[in-house]
Amino acid sequence: LPAPADLVDYNYAVAGHDGVLCDADGELFIKPCTLPEVAFYEASIQDHPDFAEYMPTFLGTLELSEHQNVSIEEQGAALIAKRSIPEPVVPTKTGKRIATNTAVVLENAAHGFVHPNILDVKLGVRLWADDAHQDKKKRFDLVTLETTHKDLGFRIAGMRVWQGEGAVGADIDQDGYRIYNKDYGRFSVNTSNVNEAFRNFIFAESAGIDEELGRLVAQAFLADLTRIQEVLEGQESRMFSASLLFVFEGDGAALRCAMEDASKPAINGNGHHVVDEDEEEADEDDEEEETLPKIYTLKVIDFAHAQWTPGMGPDENALTGVRSVARILRDLGKA
Ligand code: ADP
Ligand code: MN
Repeated sequence: LPAPADLVDYNYAVAGHDGVLCDADGELFIKPCTLPEVAFYEASIQDHPDFAEYMPTFLGTLELSEHQNVSIEEQGAALIAKRSIPEPVVPTKTGKRIATNTAVVLENAAHGFVHPNILDVKLGVRLWADDAHQDKKKRFDLVTLETTHKDLGFRIAGMRVWQGEGAVGADIDQDGYRIYNKDYGRFSVNTSNVNEAFRNFIFAESAGIDEELGRLVAQAFLADLTRIQEVLEGQESRMFSASLLFVFEGDGAALRCAMEDASKPAINGNGHHVVDEDEEEADEDDEEEETLPKIYTLKVIDFAHAQWTPGMGPDENALTGVRSVARILRDLGKA
């Protein structure tokens, strides 16, 4: 079990606030968050299971009150050790700093990939919730006007794309990932080059993601996104500034292997490998089954301003972005 000191900074966030953590195995993603976000996770799991399928698995929350002498890292380790969903956090009346004292513990969507390529697509034409202050509304409306939010209902908030072993360059990190920071989607991407931006995410010849492989990735993402679209069209919610989090195997050789493995029949039908005898013996104490190498995953994240809103109809503001991204993926998936 990981010791408290084993909780580490999460280095794969492509957008958002500082202060995100993960456990040493990288299985968990731990983010300081507001209570409405926790409430949205709980309500979704309870009443909207078909949507919850596209949220990262929610494991619980960590709480750090000023009177408690336990750090968030220590509580995180305890939760990780338990691997169970704890009691929901009850806000204290005097807790002004409660928002910053609560952290949500999620499944790390990038775990299990050899070289995860990650894209955060922020959804919405309007980016602010009803309760936002006037200055925030003004600021966000300007962002909408100046970016693809206006016409397409989304913008690229950030992305990282593996460029292959030993790749170097000004915008390439020490592990060979090209980093597209928040300025990319804010100032470089527009309606006329947005398909190219998605191409930059999905196709990377130097990492072994060629045309054929990239098209398969685009088609796989499109299948999941179409399902997300259907779910949102059939439900009544408002999600301001939520994101689509796209992750896929950015290492072409590993991606090919993972796809070949997936096409083999899985006897137990759970998407799990049937491990060969040697492996099985080595893993005897391990309760977990051998899982297939990861190909891709698509999740909806960032529910700080999300609510289920019965009676209000589907969230056309977020759906505008979902449909635009679907259109782009459909285009990239074609030969
Ligand atoms: P913020 O409110 O700070 O924007 P987000 O929920 O959008 O927080 O998360 C910020 C970033 O962290 C995302 O852009 C993404 O890169 C990463 N991230 C968020 N949730 C997960 C997750 N479950 N697994 C892996 N990475 C995540
Ligand atoms: Mn975000």
